[in-house]
Amino acid sequence: LKIAGEEKELQAAIVDAVKLHGHLGPFLIVGVRMGSVAKKVFNPVAGDSVRFQVTAKIPLVIPFSCTIDGIQAATRCTLGNQRLRIENTHKQIFASFRAENSAHVVRISVNPRVIRDLMRKMAAGIGNDELGGEIAAMTERQLFKIENECALPAV
Ligand SMILES: [Zn+2]
Repeated sequence: LKIAGEEKELQAAIVDAVKLHGHLGPFLIVGVRMGSVAKKVFNPVAGDSVRFQVTAKIPLVIPFSCTIDGIQAATRCTLGNQRLRIENTHKQIFASFRAENSAHVVRISVNPRVIRDLMRKMAAGIGNDELGGEIAAMTERQLFKIENECALPAV
């Protein structure tokens, strides 16, 4: 799996996620990338440890649900530790990450075109490794719409 640039950390996160999930696939990597965006936003300095909670809205069928394990592996926010909530959706893949003890929220939605492209290519028989590589190599801007809010708490 080839990954460009800065992305040693991403590579390590993907290896972790594959261990948890059992196989590599493009939606698993979508989840890892969502988690790493959130980690970068909340903990931009190495050693920072702002904790956050995730609400993920994802179609609860394979291959979309693979995204969940990517998020869990990358963020350590899991169903078991109650820092992950999951809601079923029809098509879109969306997650909001909320910092504990603050009003800082990061909302990440996957570009619908990326999802459509993946489905088309999977149907055409293109393999998981190749598609995973494509997702790993895309820029955050190609992959996601990212909204970063630091709203003041309501009084
Ligand atoms: Zn999978």
